[in-house]
Amino acid sequence: MNPSNPEIENVVIIGSGCAGLTAAIYAARADLSPVVIDGYEPGGQLSLTTMVENFPGFPEGVLGPELIERMRKQAERFGARYVEGAVRAVDLNSRPFTLTLDGRTFRTRSLIVAAGASARMLGLESERALLGHGLSTCATCDGYFFREREIAVVGGGDSAMEEATFLTKFASRVTIVHRRNEFRASKIMLDRARENPKIRFLTPYVVEEVLDVEKGLVEGVRLRNPETGEKKTLPVEGVFLGIGHEPNTKVFRGILDMDDAGYLMTRNGTHTNVEGVFAAGDVADTTYRQAVTAAGAGCKAALDAGKFLTEHK
Ligand code: NAP
Repeated sequence: MNPSNPEIENVVIIGSGCAGLTAAIYAARADLSPVVIDGYEPGGQLSLTTMVENFPGFPEGVLGPELIERMRKQAERFGARYVEGAVRAVDLNSRPFTLTLDGRTFRTRSLIVAAGASARMLGLESERALLGHGLSTCATCDGYFFREREIAVVGGGDSAMEEATFLTKFASRVTIVHRRNEFRASKIMLDRARENPKIRFLTPYVVEEVLDVEKGLVEGVRLRNPETGEKKTLPVEGVFLGIGHEPNTKVFRGILDMDDAGYLMTRNGTHTNVEGVFAAGDVADTTYRQAVTAAGAGCKAALDAGKFLTEHK
């Protein structure tokens, strides 16, 4: 491809998680020869998890990275092409659209944004090291592995309350650790968690470290009370972060319609406010956020893009 005069693609897909790769499978099988731009987190959130037991078709479960690798190969088999890097700028004012990556330019008749949402992290090295080894950002995905274990949920919003309540199905005890005494969660969610005999609250505490990186598994969290400076260790075998998600939509600010939190808004299936631009997966989903729903949305976006291309030859 010549960077100064790039050829015009049929469809470029931003993001190589479940939504983007499913869109790529469908677009490739429709002979659209899609280009998939990997983004900052190639493989998306699935590539950060270990065992996935709720994706249909895998009765024994499947490792997240393996599932992603299989999807990649499946799309490649039908002609999808992969490009490393992240999109830095977009021009969606006229078609073909223009996307700029580090030093490269792509022009495309249609665009599928499947850039995902990244789970907010605390910013600790120990949390990165133990992600998938006792530390998780998804209760629905990983709760099952913590039967009769003591776990901590970090956060004070609706996600933390929902995750903690869900996790009591498995865990022997759930401790919600929150950095303030006041909660952002809605009253109904907070009350539900407060009434649950398996849940207790520990506030105000900041997580300073997840233990124990050397052993490669979670043994506890080191906490600090920001008001008194007191420190203590909470022994737990699992830590779930429920401190929110950030949709990867910065590059589309002021261009694509998004809600206050930055999630893309779609209408009539996967259509955005710009004709020829479609959105799929967690980048446009504040509710379900599952691998299988992202895959479904990716399929829809590819079908919508295919229809659009047929109508705008
Ligand atoms: P959120 O409302 O933004 O809450 C995030 C929580 O995490 C806050 O309590 C925040 O503390 C804490 N937090 C953020 N960064 C932190 C850090 N670095 N260290 C420690 N704590 C940190 O996010 P959410 O709970 O994911 O909810 C997002 C939206 O989805 C909300 O509108 C919510 O109502 C909605 N939602 C609804 C449901 C439901 O109705 N079933 C379920 C889940 C989510 P501070 O409060 O101190 O800032």
